[in-house]
Amino acid sequence: MAEEKLPTRAEDFAEWYNQLVIKADLADYAPVRGCMVVKPYGWALWENITSWLDAEFKKTGHVNAAFPTLIPLSFFEKEKEHVEGFAPELAVVTHGGGEELEEKLAVRPTSETIIGHMYAKWVKSWRDLPILIVQWGSVLRWELRTKLFLRTAEFYWHEGHTAHANAEEAKEEMYRILDIYERFCLEEAAIPVFKGSKSETEKFPGAQITTSIEAMMWDKRALQSGTSHYFGTNFAKAFDIQFLNRENTLQHAETTSWAISSRIIGAMIMVHGDDQGLVMPPRLAPVQAVVIPIFKKDDEKAKVLEVADRIFMELKAAGIRVKMDDRDNVSSGFKFNDWEMRGVPVRVEIGPKDVEKNSVALARRDKPGKEGKSFVPQTDLAATVNALLVEIQAALLQRATEYRDANIHDVKTYDELKEVVKDGWAFAYWCESRECETKVKEETKATTRNIPLNQPDSEGTCVVCGKSSKRKVYFAKAY
Ligand SMILES: [Zn+2]
Repeated sequence: MAEEKLPTRAEDFAEWYNQLVIKADLADYAPVRGCMVVKPYGWALWENITSWLDAEFKKTGHVNAAFPTLIPLSFFEKEKEHVEGFAPELAVVTHGGGEELEEKLAVRPTSETIIGHMYAKWVKSWRDLPILIVQWGSVLRWELRTKLFLRTAEFYWHEGHTAHANAEEAKEEMYRILDIYERFCLEEAAIPVFKGSKSETEKFPGAQITTSIEAMMWDKRALQSGTSHYFGTNFAKAFDIQFLNRENTLQHAETTSWAISSRIIGAMIMVHGDDQGLVMPPRLAPVQAVVIPIFKKDDEKAKVLEVADRIFMELKAAGIRVKMDDRDNVSSGFKFNDWEMRGVPVRVEIGPKDVEKNSVALARRDKPGKEGKSFVPQTDLAATVNALLVEIQAALLQRATEYRDANIHDVKTYDELKEVVKDGWAFAYWCESRECETKVKEETKATTRNIPLNQPDSEGTCVVCGKSSKRKVYFAKAY
């Protein structure tokens, strides 16, 4: 139960986040360092995220399957960059059934290797392609610096793995998924994102192209919120995924993989949350409206509860995810704070006067205090609440977009860049050399986030070295 106040975001953003995740009842720390327990309220949120994505993947021809958690360690040796990228994070099983294993097993950090191994078995002819499989589950990457949802050793996600007959189709798939991710962020999570490709150094180990969506958090740091990779034939060669093409010659498949993880919950918290707690976008909120009956005397109680019950049933029947808070051991003020902490978009208050006047008070979570309060008739309340939820959803996206855009600055000189990335994002021409990227990282801690797909129709000069450059990139400190 939420009793103590959070530190404000301005006081201590990291501590605000840590306390909020616990007080809003989303997750808890596990006995194993680096792991998290997702509580029912957090899992309900995750289910709303996953069910939207799952439906979109199915609409675009994908199917779900499950691959094992344990992968022969030797599989990781097969793709050079992949093993280098993941070796430091691998958890390895050395014993089973009380005996030392002959073949050591990795707990999957991601499943390209095991899935590549299986695709090699399944793909024989061009008729077997494309394969469009999604796996939902968790993976493990050894992490000691925990931050619930943002960085945990075990985390939840989907990983899409597809194999195609040619590069064109595989790249199309990578971008198709990136578009779905962008739509998810905009339409469901109310988070504005930039779609773009990662630099050579920020790429996924083993990928030819990594694309990402990048979002700005309240503290102006960037969060990579989803990735979609094109591997070319790298994994197909490592795992021998070959097929007979239409000309009857043997050819390697082209593969992709892509993911959004439970990290996206961290993004939602850090983009929308305020000093009172979470602010849930209505489309994903596990509870969209909470009904709170308010009474003092016993003779008021029966009348108020009768109306509150009727309203609860009406909202529920209209498909609104609604909760009745008729707890009698806590005050109304406590309940208000409690639901504010959990970010419920709309609060419906009903007191004795409302019963008489056939009205209710609606309080919207995104606008605290009087500004967000309105008194409306009980008649057609479900329609009123539904309209308000739509309005809140749009308002959250607008607010986040304005905030982001106000904190991104076009920079032309290196001095400007150094100043801007202290507290914002810089958008600048960059020659795409590793040297210039490393210099920025070492001197400012800002990294290249992505090179947006939509580029200005002009050329410029690299903000670091002054060489002529065709594309602009976002520089920012990141999670
Ligand atoms: Zn340069």
